[in-house]
Amino acid sequence: MRQSQLFTRTVKELPKDETSYNAQTLIRAGFIDKVAAGVYSYLPLGKRVLDKICRVIREEMDVIGGQEILMTSLIPKEYLEATDRWENFDVLFRLKGGDNKEYALGATHEEIVTPLAKKFILSYKDLPFSVYQIQTKFRNEKRAKAGLMRGREFLMKDMYSFHTDQADLDAYYDRAVGAYNKIFQRLGLGEITYFTYAAGGTFSKYSHEFQTISDAGEDLIYVCNHCHIAINKEIIAEQSACPQCGNKELAEKKAIEVGNIFKLGTKFSGSFNVVYKDDEGHDNQAVMGCYGIGPSRVMGTIVETFHDDKGLIWPENIAPYKIHLLSLGENEAAASVYADLIAAGFEVLFDDREISAGEKFADADLIGCPYRVLVSKKTLVAASVEIKRRSDDTSSLVAIKDLMAYWK
Ligand code: ATP
Ligand code: MG
Repeated sequence: MRQSQLFTRTVKELPKDETSYNAQTLIRAGFIDKVAAGVYSYLPLGKRVLDKICRVIREEMDVIGGQEILMTSLIPKEYLEATDRWENFDVLFRLKGGDNKEYALGATHEEIVTPLAKKFILSYKDLPFSVYQIQTKFRNEKRAKAGLMRGREFLMKDMYSFHTDQADLDAYYDRAVGAYNKIFQRLGLGEITYFTYAAGGTFSKYSHEFQTISDAGEDLIYVCNHCHIAINKEIIAEQSACPQCGNKELAEKKAIEVGNIFKLGTKFSGSFNVVYKDDEGHDNQAVMGCYGIGPSRVMGTIVETFHDDKGLIWPENIAPYKIHLLSLGENEAAASVYADLIAAGFEVLFDDREISAGEKFADADLIGCPYRVLVSKKTLVAASVEIKRRSDDTSSLVAIKDLMAYWK
C-alpha cells in the first residue's frame, strides 16, 4: 500500500473524552475512529489487524471442528422471554420494529443458536457438533471508558457446542481450552495469559476465563506460577489455593478478560426443549457448552501490552504490514524495492509521501510495523537499504541484492 494513497493519516487531535491508552494511540496512529463512547470505526490499518486476529481465531476453531455461521443481530423479544433474559439482561439494547414487534440487538446468541440447533437434532446420531460466528455484539455497558476493551458495539467470536451427555461436553471443553491456549500463543500473549477459574458457572461450579496480565485490566486474579493458571478474585474466598497443585502462594495481578468459556449443561436446551432420541429410542436433553472471545478487546490488549513511548509495536503475525518502507527523497529507487518486495509476497506499507524525514520516522514508530526499511541517498551510495526492527534500537545496512534473503 502506498501511504500517499491511504485515505487516513496519523492524527494529532484526540477526542477530549478518550482516556484509554489503547484507543488514544490507535486513533493517533490512524487505526480506528471514535464515533461515541465505546463505539469505534476500524480504518484500513485497524481493519487489517482485526482481520488477522480473527483469522487466527477462525483457524483454531476450525481445527476443533467448529462450523462457521452468521446469526442475526436482531433478536425478537419472544426468544429472550423464553430464557427470562428480555427483562433480566441489563445491558440489552431494545428497539421497536416497523411491525410494532420488539427486538433486542444481539448481546449474546444462546437464544438464537439453541432453537436453530433444535431444528437439526433428532437423534444421538446428529450429535455432537459445534458452531461459531464472528459478529458485532451490542451491549449497553454503563462505563465505556476503556477504549476497545469495553465497547458498546464490539466484535465477538462466540462458539456453541451440543452434546449427548456431560462426558462428551467435558472432553470437547478440554479441546476448546487447548484451542484457546493456541490462539493466545499465536497472538503473542501466551506467556501472560492465564486459564482462570471464575464464578458464573450455570451448570458446573465454575466458568473459566482467559485473563491477560495488564495494568490496564479491570479484573484482579491470583496467579499460580507453578501451573500457569489463576483464580478470579470473585471466587478467591471459596477457592484460595491453586485447584491443580494446592499452592497457596498466589500472586495478585491486574488482568484483562480476553475469553470466557462455560459449561451450560441443559440450561438453554431445557428452555427450548432440545431433545434427541438415544439408541434405545428414549428422549434426552442435549447438553451445551459456550466459548467466547473478543477480537476487538484482544486488539486493545495487544496495544496495551506491546508499545513504547513512541507508539505501537505489533507482533509480527498480526501487524497491519510486516514492512514499513520509507523513501527519503528517493522515490524511484524505493519504488523498485517496493515492487520487488510485493512480488516476493511481502506485506509492505510504502511511505512515498512528500513530507520530512522526521515526520516519516515518527509515523513509522507510531504505526509500529515490525520492520522499517529505509531508502535514502546515503543507503543508495552503498547499493543498500537500512533495516531497523521496531523493537530494536539498532539498524543495519543490507545490500539491495540480498534483501529478499534477509527474511528467509
Ligand atoms: P466482562 O466480564 O468483561 O463484562 P463478559 O463476561 O460479560 O465480559 P462474555 O459475555 O463472556 O463477557 O463475552 C465473551 C468475550 O467477549 C469476553 O471474554 C471478552 O473478550 C469479550 N467482551 C465482552 N464484553 C465486551 C465489551 N463490552 N467490549 C469488548 N469485548 C467484550
Ligand atoms: Mg466475564
